Amino acid sequence: MSRTADITGCKAALITARIDLEDAAGPVERKSRDFYWYSPILKRQLADVVGDFVVTPTTTAQIKTILGICHAHGVPVTVRGAGTGNYGQAMPLRGGCILHTVALDQIISLTEGHLVAQPGAIMGELETACRAQGLELRLFPSTVTTATLGGFIAGGSSGVGAIRWGGLRNPANINSLTILTMEAEPREILLTGKDIYKAAHAYGVNGVITRIDVPVDAATDWADAIIGLPTLGEATRFALDLGKADDLILTRMISVFEAPIPDRFFLRHREHLTPSESAVAVLVKREHLSKLEAFAADNDAVVRFNGQPSTRKLPPLHELGWNHTTLRAMKVDSTITYLQMMLPPGDPIAGLGAVKARFGDELLIHLELTRMLGKVTAVAMPLVTFTSEARLEEVITILEGELGATNFNPHRVTLEEGGMKEPDAEQLAFKHLTDPDGLLNPGKMIAWEDPDWKPAAGRSYLFGATLNEEEQVL
Ligand code: FAD
Repeated sequence: MSRTADITGCKAALITARIDLEDAAGPVERKSRDFYWYSPILKRQLADVVGDFVVTPTTTAQIKTILGICHAHGVPVTVRGAGTGNYGQAMPLRGGCILHTVALDQIISLTEGHLVAQPGAIMGELETACRAQGLELRLFPSTVTTATLGGFIAGGSSGVGAIRWGGLRNPANINSLTILTMEAEPREILLTGKDIYKAAHAYGVNGVITRIDVPVDAATDWADAIIGLPTLGEATRFALDLGKADDLILTRMISVFEAPIPDRFFLRHREHLTPSESAVAVLVKREHLSKLEAFAADNDAVVRFNGQPSTRKLPPLHELGWNHTTLRAMKVDSTITYLQMMLPPGDPIAGLGAVKARFGDELLIHLELTRMLGKVTAVAMPLVTFTSEARLEEVITILEGELGATNFNPHRVTLEEGGMKEPDAEQLAFKHLTDPDGLLNPGKMIAWEDPDWKPAAGRSYLFGATLNEEEQVL
């Protein structure tokens, strides 16, 4: 149902309810942005997106009040954690209220196996609190220093820890979520088991997450290591074999970078790298460093970095991997963008060979190793030299059509196009229960507006319509 938003009435009611509200243009515009500019396509499409005001609740009761008032006035609500999502996930496409969780940052309880926290808790601070008790987070994004737990659960997908535990989709990685619905009288719903995925990775369209319970494990002392290998194929083989050798060498992250990525873009680690080599970055149990060195020697590889002193202050190793690889590359070369994909089925090295044969250095390969249904698997986040939107769309079409890769398109703003390109029936059904007026982060779930939508190459769904390239102008 589409309703006309009464912004003025809503703001007045929120102020009467003593909710902290900001509506000055500058701060509202800043909090209407995330890392959407990572994508040259989204950068153009979403440049003018802006909310009407920002609220900063300090308690769950206040979130309930805000949702009730916004619902009464037909005002859309987009939740914002730290705004580090990079597909415009936290951008209010239809304006309205930005609900910032920054003041909801408390740990509710921390015991072996369970960290229960408010949604705005910063993940790096959670990891520090865990370590103080001999525990550690199971999974975190490479933006751990700034990202919120709620933003990771609602917008993220995987990260450091995936080689042990798989991504967020693995039921072992979230114990439970509590959400508030978007209704006249918002209701609290506890989600456990497979119901968690009705609200996890749903960009906040299915309720505001107010309480999160994630598993934590006994802490391990991790060390950073970088291994150099002559070719991408050898680096990939090494990384996959290392991932499988977890009974011998425990790892928390394994990333592969084709030459010249390390030498060109990892500027502060450069003195430890050999320019012609591809590299494997590994977070390894410190006690297992010597075993890693032996494993490397057995595989004609060389540990180039094992924490030895550097002339420059080094970033933590996880800030070379995951989506930080793209960020580092963009800082050096502003024509770089990226893709996220599963390699063609079959032998990953043959798949990579086919991709390289087709595209050469237009695509530089970056892989992250994860575990899918217990199996060590490489997901690809290649760096792409951007020349035009049309060429980027063509590259995606070739990867999928000719080469059999599956893209999770980071140049689209909707859940469906960034994911499996089909509506998630369970999330859609749940939205009818939790947000019957479609006021939560509208525009992000195509199925809500067009249940019969089908993907079309080179066309994106935006502001309620499927547009081709020329039409995609605001
Ligand atoms: P935001 O960007 O603020 O929000 C993300 C989404 O969640 C939005 O749709 C928002 O509306 C929704 N949301 C936020 N809080 C709530 C809530 N309480 N209830 C309901 N919905 C909510 N992602 C990964 O998965 N793994 C990575 O390793 C990774 N690395 C990155 C590296 C870089 C350099 C960058 C720029 C991004 C990276 N990301 C990664 C994406 C992003 O940083 C993470 O997903 C992060 O966890 C998002 O947290 P946030 O607090 O910034 O969320």
